Amino acid sequence: MKLIDMTGKEVEIRDCLGCEIANGTIDIFGGLLYQGKHFTVAQDFELPIDGFIIIFSKRHVEKFIDLSYDEQIELTTLINKTLKILEENNIAEEYNIILEEKAGYHFHVWLMPRHKWMIEKFGKVLKNIKAIQDYAIQNMKTQEIFDKIKNTCELVKKELNKE
Ligand SMILES: [Zn+2]
Repeated sequence: MKLIDMTGKEVEIRDCLGCEIANGTIDIFGGLLYQGKHFTVAQDFELPIDGFIIIFSKRHVEKFIDLSYDEQIELTTLINKTLKILEENNIAEEYNIILEEKAGYHFHVWLMPRHKWMIEKFGKVLKNIKAIQDYAIQNMKTQEIFDKIKNTCELVKKELNKE
């Protein structure tokens, strides 16, 4: 399967997408921001939305209840840490934390920022996620935005890997 990243580059997926990202076997926009014991943090490589961060389990699991206690602790800690970094650096003030369970889909959590432009153009973010993502793909693929996303990636990477 081939996917196109936000800059138009083709990314070849041989296995499960989540497994490939979480275990670093494909090259994605912004790179891997953090690799913990059980989870990997990365920017969504397809959508040009600043601060749209995804946390993938390293194990191929599909359901929240399949996580071990250690995994649950690492996940919630990572969500909390990442949101704090994003908020303190004014990437977005509020986020929707989205966890969708789907048979055959690799476990991941979306940290979906509520940017001003989303609220102005679409009102309720959660209700209009698909429209917001389509809008970003059609209108936000600019070098300026890619640079902004790269900066946010560097920042999150630096902060998450501290200590
Ligand atoms: Zn997988």
